[in-house]
Amino acid sequence: MEDVRSDLSRRGFIAGAGVAALAAVGASLAGCGKAEQPAPASQDGADAKPEADAAEAKKSIPEVFTDGVYITNGMSMHGLIDVKTVIADGAIAEVKVLNHGESRVIGEYALEAMPARIVESQCVDADVITGATLTSMAIKSAVSEAITNAGGDPRDFSGYVAPAPAKQTVEKSADVAIMGAGPAGLMAAWAAAEQGKSVIICERMGYTGGCVPITGCGVYVQETQIQKAWGLDHVMESHRTVERRLEVYAERLVKPDSPYYNPDMPFIKNILYSAQRAVDKMLQIGVPFCPIGNTGVPVLSPGDFQIGGKHAVQILTNYVTTQLGVEIITEAPVTSLTTEGGKVVGFVAEGADGSEYHVSADAVILASGGYIMNRDLMEEYQSDDLKFPLMGPPWATGDGMLLAKDAGAAWCCMDKGVTSHYHAGVSLAETSYIHYCVPGVVVNGNGDRFVDETISYIIALRKFKEEPTTDFYWIFDDSASYGLYPNGNNFGIDYEFLLETGDIIKGENYQDLAEKTGLSGLVDALDTVNDCALNGAEDPCGNKSLAAMQLDGPMYAMKIVPTPYIAQGGVKIDLDGHVQREDDSIIEGLYAVGDVTGALENRDGADYMIGLTQALGYGLIVGETVAGDLA
Ligand SMILES: Cc1cc2nc3c(=O)[nH]c(=O)nc-3n(C[C@H](O)[C@H](O)[C@H](O)COP(=O)(O)OP(=O)(O)OC[C@H]3O[C@@H](n4cnc5c(N)ncnc54)[C@H](O)[C@@H]3O)c2cc1C
Repeated sequence: MEDVRSDLSRRGFIAGAGVAALAAVGASLAGCGKAEQPAPASQDGADAKPEADAAEAKKSIPEVFTDGVYITNGMSMHGLIDVKTVIADGAIAEVKVLNHGESRVIGEYALEAMPARIVESQCVDADVITGATLTSMAIKSAVSEAITNAGGDPRDFSGYVAPAPAKQTVEKSADVAIMGAGPAGLMAAWAAAEQGKSVIICERMGYTGGCVPITGCGVYVQETQIQKAWGLDHVMESHRTVERRLEVYAERLVKPDSPYYNPDMPFIKNILYSAQRAVDKMLQIGVPFCPIGNTGVPVLSPGDFQIGGKHAVQILTNYVTTQLGVEIITEAPVTSLTTEGGKVVGFVAEGADGSEYHVSADAVILASGGYIMNRDLMEEYQSDDLKFPLMGPPWATGDGMLLAKDAGAAWCCMDKGVTSHYHAGVSLAETSYIHYCVPGVVVNGNGDRFVDETISYIIALRKFKEEPTTDFYWIFDDSASYGLYPNGNNFGIDYEFLLETGDIIKGENYQDLAEKTGLSGLVDALDTVNDCALNGAEDPCGNKSLAAMQLDGPMYAMKIVPTPYIAQGGVKIDLDGHVQREDDSIIEGLYAVGDVTGALENRDGADYMIGLTQALGYGLIVGETVAGDLA
């Protein structure tokens, strides 16, 4: 793309927007051939350097190196990223991302962190932001292009040396120390701080909110203020009240002889009632909620589908820090717990600059998420799920579980498996709602049906694992294909791009589709589907709502891959969030909440359903428990 250069003169620029950035540049001129770069200008725009230095500096700037604003771009995972680069006095004075298609939180983090790293280091070969390589590379490439367009040579801006770790020990203390600023940690902080407790959170990533900005769905609650205000007429009867939900759960519990069976369902009751309170509280501080889809199931998204989650987290983070005085230290993973005589009295976290935070506290809450991305634990407990690509967040490495175990805690429900979405096989794009949007059937790589498409992901995944192939296809007919368009499905999701990416294969009819895909059993499988659907015969896979397909018209196959994203086991806690040993005794000073405890529905005998709902609701419960214990 052609650069757009402004008419800013060098002096005019320095007196304006570039001052702060240039000052930052001056602080780190050691890397990237900076001996050749001019020193920063003073605040009033006058050149503070001695004349000889200035002459030397001038000599090093190529004659053709022209100050100005350059707009360039780089290619990333989700398309082009447009970047503004301000060049002043031969230095990179400012880098800013103008437009991008990066929808995921990690990419978004890199959009802020990478420009700052380039400006501070003056290097286009600065280290990429961990977990966001493609986004970082796109920004670096855009800045290189800007330097070239300005008449410079990107090679003069290379030789990145990562800042030396400060290696200082920072002592901190609070009533409550929390590991992880995901939804569970933030809600626990809120509840504890609201009752007058001082709270410090150490968060591993450079941002707060954990999975919230990447969750596909939302909070599954009933009878919140906002739902009452909307009215309940459009909601399915079985989803209107908490009492009714509990009846439905009761019907789905595992068999009474299971060790997890508890017909009183105390954990599930706690989750549903506390999540209701959490949503009402969030609404009061301005977190917007919108209903997801138009299915009569009252699922609320904090914000807007897949976008608002980030804003909801920002509001929540802003509220607990500015209104309640909670301190959040980001890029500071907790690495060990501090104990005294068997009681947990704090933790140690490693700061991004090498500093070590020694946080002492009367109570420590583990809220660091799950373990699905910890390969060792997966090998040990769910090795057969490793057959499929894992799609958990990068921080789900079970850090909190491992620390709890070291402190004597038990883990529980590790045998309960993982839950999974379906993703488009070629692009691995997020297609986890495809079966809600585009009615169809699943076949394996031989074209054979093997699963009831209406059952939960978790049970379905068990069936997928038993199949002889690792390839699977979602098969649908022409009328169902309208669900690929935002106006054609209940969620307003646009899946049309899958036709272009090659994820969806189209046949003239079902025989043609079988030929194109090489699914030898497909014709027989679909004949059986229509047989059952049209003649009321029992479906061999147990799907009671099979619809007949229009087999002689255009038919479609989309390759799908199950992508496990949450494991159900975790640290054992009691109903109030105290961490327990194997014999149910409590580890003093230690609490846990959210995915680190696994799916608590399991403790009553139900399968995973509502991770975010649990994280928010139990966050409140555990924060209140801690405040009560310390009172
Ligand atoms: C792809 C996907 C889709 C989902 N869809 C849904 C859905 O539709 N509905 C639903 O209810 N739930 C859904 N969930 C689950 C839901 O998002 C989680 O259950 C919920 O976010 C758990 O909250 P948490 O705070 O316990 O953990 P997380 O959200 O994982 O947050 C944990 C935090 O702890 C931090 N951390 C980790 N290790 C350390 C360490 N060593 N030191 C300090 N901090 C650390 C992490 O960086 C992170 O910020 C989905 C999850 C995923 C991954």
